[in-house]
Amino acid sequence: MRKNIRAKTNIRVESAPMPKVEWASISLDCAAVGNMLRGVDGVCGCTWRGPAIQAQRVHPEDITVNPARVICDACDKQRTD
Ligand SMILES: [Zn+2]
Repeated sequence: MRKNIRAKTNIRVESAPMPKVEWASISLDCAAVGNMLRGVDGVCGCTWRGPAIQAQRVHPEDITVNPARVICDACDKQRTD
């Protein structure tokens, strides 16, 4: 079943709903800075909100900011840069 779907969607979808995160290339791994994200809320561009430590990436300038700009798990998997 999955194989069929994959074959049909071989063409790259350019109109993905996820906007490109401009700062993705300089973002930090949340797990690596977990101690600094304690008690910090994260806000992702897709409207995801939650503890920053549960996101995948965080803006390097926002580690001491609450809420911090983050890239959530779902968006991190979708991003292409
Ligand atoms: Zn997101």
